[in-house]
Amino acid sequence: MTHRELHVTFPVEMDDGSIRIFNGYRVQHNHMRGPFKGGIRYHWDVNLDEVRALAMWMTIKTAVVDIPLGGGKGGVICNPKDMSEKELERMTRGFVRRIAPIIGSTVDIPAPDVYTNAKVMRWIAEEYGKCTDKKDLGVVTGKPLDFGGSEGREEATALGGLFVLKHIIKKKIVGIGSLKGKSVVIQGFGNAGAIFARLAYEEGAKVIAVSDSKGAILNEGGLDIPKVIEHKKEKGYVADCRGATNTTNEDLLEMGCDILVPAALENVITMENVNRIKAKLILELANGPLTASADKILYKKGVMVIPDVLANAGGVIVSYFEWKQNLANEHWGKEEVNKKLEKIMNKNTSLVLETAKKYKVSPRLGAYILAISRISEKAKVELSEDHYQCFAKFL
Ligand code: NAD
Repeated sequence: MTHRELHVTFPVEMDDGSIRIFNGYRVQHNHMRGPFKGGIRYHWDVNLDEVRALAMWMTIKTAVVDIPLGGGKGGVICNPKDMSEKELERMTRGFVRRIAPIIGSTVDIPAPDVYTNAKVMRWIAEEYGKCTDKKDLGVVTGKPLDFGGSEGREEATALGGLFVLKHIIKKKIVGIGSLKGKSVVIQGFGNAGAIFARLAYEEGAKVIAVSDSKGAILNEGGLDIPKVIEHKKEKGYVADCRGATNTTNEDLLEMGCDILVPAALENVITMENVNRIKAKLILELANGPLTASADKILYKKGVMVIPDVLANAGGVIVSYFEWKQNLANEHWGKEEVNKKLEKIMNKNTSLVLETAKKYKVSPRLGAYILAISRISEKAKVELSEDHYQCFAKFL
């Protein structure tokens, strides 16, 4: 059940002088633990059901990592690839004028999501300021560094995932020993995937394959990730990189490796390919890369899946840090941000795994049970041990 759903329509003047009507949504799912928090997506497939589901996911994610925020999400139906920067700016400002009455640094704090970025967040903060006649930088996170953004935000999702992985290895929860020399395969070479590839490479892991929407590359001996990043910067894709052979995204997912990191799209491991997955551990940097049925099969097979609501929560944690800095008018250094991030990731990784062990369920269900217990505690809803046993069976 969502707390509030707002559907807005608003006119935008296009560059050719015509007026186009856009539809947008802001869904506020739950605020028992703090202001609603979640991104704004610009995409042609945006619809209310999707925004609702993503808002609920944020409620779970903020509770799993125990930050005092709730869950929300927003989106505008549009094709940002076909719009000029000026049109995108006018659309953003038009959307903000409609949702301004229900957002604010103590109420609901949007952030970037698919096809929105720091520049869009700056427009949101500026337009909100005009609507309310006050400067409230904390109304939105993911802003540019020179406009109230936080150090470390760009790396936060990948670094959070790396902290989880290192913690699990250190606590000997998986029999991997150390990250050094371990083979890693990464699907997606954008903000989450490419930064994770660089961090894993710097830790001494052997990143043997990476991919993007145009194709995949492989080197069993380990890719030279700084070179791949250079190549991608120059060409716009990873394929044809020197020192690697081209392969396909389908083959990449099924390669033998220690760690598989889906960091692109949802539903890429399904009933169709799950029995060919050979990785020992899967770190979900993408949201929802496994279907529910494939997830169950991997759990039965003993493959450890570190769920998205924990593995990729680094981004929302540093968003929370940004919001805190804005409210206190402070600016933290990168080292301080990363140290605080590591502490939160380590503590909650342990708690997720302890919960999973207690109820004899997967880490994903462990994370959900932990989140529900934290939300119900704030909502003053008393849940008994029977309820949790029931969640463990039927979630
Ligand atoms: P991005 O747009 O920067 O990168 C996405 C990458 O996936 C690109 O390299 C793209 O080419 C690739 N890709 C697209 N289609 C593909 C396909 N069919 N096969 C292989 N690769 C394909 O996006 P991002 O910010 O890195 O987000 C990636 C995933 O991580 C999404 O699921 C997102 O929701 C999740 N996530 C990101 C963040 C963050 O802070 N960036 C936070 C939480 C979750």
